[in-house]
Amino acid sequence: MRKLLMHACCAPCFVYIENDLKENGLKIDDETYEKVDFTACFYNPNIHPKVEYERRKKAFEKFCKLKNCKNVVIDEYDLDGFAKEVVNNVGPNKKYNIRCEYCYYMRLKKVFEYAKENNFDIVSTTLTISPYQNHEIIKKVGKDLEKEFGIEFIYCDYRVHFRDGQKMARDLSIYMQKYCGCMFSIDNGKWVY
Ligand code: SF4
Repeated sequence: MRKLLMHACCAPCFVYIENDLKENGLKIDDETYEKVDFTACFYNPNIHPKVEYERRKKAFEKFCKLKNCKNVVIDEYDLDGFAKEVVNNVGPNKKYNIRCEYCYYMRLKKVFEYAKENNFDIVSTTLTISPYQNHEIIKKVGKDLEKEFGIEFIYCDYRVHFRDGQKMARDLSIYMQKYCGCMFSIDNGKWVY
């Protein structure tokens, strides 16, 4: 059975996917599933403020404990590094067109590094359950990293299950945030990107 390292952007986005991985396997496309040995990986160093980062990290750990799910937390907080990179390298004619592109790249690159060091066969991410994320860019970033690291990136579109996952998280009393994560995504408690 192949080993999957599933990047978890947060616990609520992982709830549906964890259950699906256990019950059916990794969703390759609408008709194909592959049984995998999976580990969840929390690496989200740009959540603002730090207290919110700790809240989301704890929610992830609580959920994994509850479900007896193998997991790793790469507990590195680097808001300054994120903000500097956005200021210097995001915008027209710069390295990244939009800040979310850099954000996906920065998070997934670290997950790929961990996957390489620990002999995983596949990387994927729970970001793809959210209808608020830019799926085309996630797919492109994942495929670029696949080439760089020689580890397969599997993009799975779980958007149709977003609300199911939110309900499952609420039923388990898992903490649910009101914004994506970085300082640019906070707007009086509304979801913004
Ligand atoms: S809005 Fe979300 S995906 Fe985009 S840069 Fe901020 S934290 Fe990352």
